[in-house]
Amino acid sequence: MPYEVERDVAVQAVLRASELCQAVRAALVTADTMAKKDKSPVTVADFGVQAIISHDLATAFPNDPLVGEEHAADLEGPDAAELRDRVVRSVQAVAPELTESTILRAISRGTHPGGAKGRHWCVDPIDGTKGFLRGEQYAVALALIEDGVPVLGVLGCPNLPSDPRRPDSPAGCLFIAVRGQGAHVRPLRDAHELPVRVDDITEPAKAVFCESVESGHSAHDDSAAVARLLGVTRPPYRIDSQCKYAAVARGDASIYLRLPTRAGYEEKIWDHAAGWMVIREAGGQVSDITGKPLDFSIGRTLRDNRGVVATNGHIHDLVIEAVRRTLNV
Ligand code: AMP
Ligand code: MG
Repeated sequence: MPYEVERDVAVQAVLRASELCQAVRAALVTADTMAKKDKSPVTVADFGVQAIISHDLATAFPNDPLVGEEHAADLEGPDAAELRDRVVRSVQAVAPELTESTILRAISRGTHPGGAKGRHWCVDPIDGTKGFLRGEQYAVALALIEDGVPVLGVLGCPNLPSDPRRPDSPAGCLFIAVRGQGAHVRPLRDAHELPVRVDDITEPAKAVFCESVESGHSAHDDSAAVARLLGVTRPPYRIDSQCKYAAVARGDASIYLRLPTRAGYEEKIWDHAAGWMVIREAGGQVSDITGKPLDFSIGRTLRDNRGVVATNGHIHDLVIEAVRRTLNV
């Protein structure tokens, strides 16, 4: 099978990274009462995840560059000594074989500019940092991009219920998609995979749409107006991170709206590449708010696109029409 080794390496890296996130998160719960406003745990986990994933990729594919959200420069100098130390300890808790210099070197590999030529990996170590801090949804998002197009995506979703119809079902899902090979889901702790497919709703009025919890990341008033126009009556399903792509991919929702909150914001490729792959292979469709395909080939951002709309595919054109009418685009 094409990409068999890449798939395997990516899955193992995201599993280890998810374990790190859960360990940091568990420590946060214990320390919660002491420092509720302390946002540093998510920073520690962010760097730790980038270190693990970058290291695992570099070991398996030494010539593949990496587009990573985090910058190693933020860990340099005497002021960052304590943070550096916490990052190293969090990584060594799940990967004891890594030394401090290996960890720092791995983090610093994430500076690739992206682009249209050759292949590169793209990682958002913790997508949905706000969700992570709230104890809600977040995702470890890893994609392989070839000549400007994602070909493999893995989403680790440690807090996502395994059974969408039972919010209290065991949490922790891993979504895996490879071009032409479909999308699959498995629990974090069990390698048994099942295929994932979008729902078959063809009437937008029957759809559930999902969007960001944070109104600063997606315009809630505009999405409410789009929903009205489509006749959607069910309340929005608000979750953080690329878990929204996973939700549409497995039919928890039929639409994902990410409507611009301000002119000039450029969506980052690491916020979308893995989710894009998962939805596409689950049979869904993704575009920007005007219906234009997302262009992952022009660097670290999607600067030629505005916002994102993902659907089960069947209702994509109708949703885009409603978005265009609402936003006048
Ligand atoms: P979500 O969890 O879907 O709300 O998205 C989290 C991501 O939103 C973060 O990884 C940021 O990169 C991204 N983000 C930050 N500011 C904005 C903005 N103004 N519009 C859209 N996305 C943003
Ligand atoms: Mg992100």
